[in-house]
Amino acid sequence: MQRDIEEVLVSRETISEMVRTLGKRISEDYEGQELVLIGVLKGGFVFLADLMREITIPVDMDLISVSSYGAQTRSSGVVRIIKDIDITITNKHVLIVEDIVDTGLTLKHLKELLSTRGPASIKVAAAFDKPSRRKVEIEAEYKGIVIPDKFVIGYGLDYAGKYRNLPDLCTLSPKVYSKA
Ligand code: 5GP
Repeated sequence: MQRDIEEVLVSRETISEMVRTLGKRISEDYEGQELVLIGVLKGGFVFLADLMREITIPVDMDLISVSSYGAQTRSSGVVRIIKDIDITITNKHVLIVEDIVDTGLTLKHLKELLSTRGPASIKVAAAFDKPSRRKVEIEAEYKGIVIPDKFVIGYGLDYAGKYRNLPDLCTLSPKVYSKA
């Protein structure tokens, strides 16, 4: 697997420091409130698992899986729920936990969708951010690390279903793409 990596863009140490900082901020901001973390599958589960252990207030959590409807959806931002959350979020403070914000379309639609269920508030924590790619105005309130416009793998992010288990955020060697 290591041979397929072109470059380590963000090291596991830097990621770990970022997660600690965000966890501390979230714990302070939501002190005394009912917080629900909603991890976005599949990519967001690694960040969710790390982040929730850096949060020092009691939290509830669940997972959601969404998918685009196809090529058209990339521009419309419409997403389909593959697996919904099981818990009720009415009057609760919701924090969506996402791996990366790219065009922002997925997150915008997901936020709108969850908003219809009457949460007390709804915010976003994203491990990585590619602001140069944004198509809609959306910002994660808890933003980890800003990265350049490159396709990344590792720390939950995949290429063709693989590399999610890399502990660092990396770019993929061009020889892997050329094999596809
Ligand atoms: P958006 O709707 O913001 O364009 O897309 C967000 C989703 O696209 C992310 O949750 C992630 O699953 C995927 N994505 C965006 N950029 C990358 C990337 O550089 N690498 C990988 N593996 N997935 C990405």
